[in-house]
Amino acid sequence: MTAAHAQAELGCERVLIIDWDVHHGNGTQDIFWASPNVLFFDTHRAAPFYPGTGNKEEVGVGLDEGLTVNVPLPAGCGDPSLVKAYREILVPAVEWFKPDLILVSAGFDMHRLDLCMNLSYSGFGALSGIVQELADNHCGGRLAMVLEGGYHLESLARGVRTVLEVLAGGDPPEIEEPGISEVAGLADFHRDAFR
Ligand SMILES: [Zn+2]
Repeated sequence: MTAAHAQAELGCERVLIIDWDVHHGNGTQDIFWASPNVLFFDTHRAAPFYPGTGNKEEVGVGLDEGLTVNVPLPAGCGDPSLVKAYREILVPAVEWFKPDLILVSAGFDMHRLDLCMNLSYSGFGALSGIVQELADNHCGGRLAMVLEGGYHLESLARGVRTVLEVLAGGDPPEIEEPGISEVAGLADFHRDAFR
């Protein structure tokens, strides 16, 4: 496990794991459910979509309480909602947590050609820009992405290309429209943990 290795061998104390795959990262959540030095942030299609976990009330236990941040979203919510979730929930969480390494479980099955979340290539680019800026601001640019799922080969390939263009210094696309109102409620729910 990359995060555990980074902590044990590379001198990283606080690791942020971001999971933007459309499926909830239940395995990652289980591993770090009680870990006070790992912040896990997961946007995913809400249950009953597989695997059915990742309700917002799943926040970790003990010293990890509040360090598991689940953002379940309805099918079809699209770029504005994902960008809003990253800006309004992830960004304040990271400013509070101050990671020294950021890892991303980068699945591409949120794309509109894939599993119904209606993300565009620009959406992936915008998320990449937010994450890269967080890495630059908080941990000296230390950012690693791990390729996860993606069932539609065209959107998988073009999605990866879009992300790499942003990471290589391209301007991330602007996504300005308001997202779904559910995100505001989720942001309110998580906000207290980061004060
Ligand atoms: Zn997936």
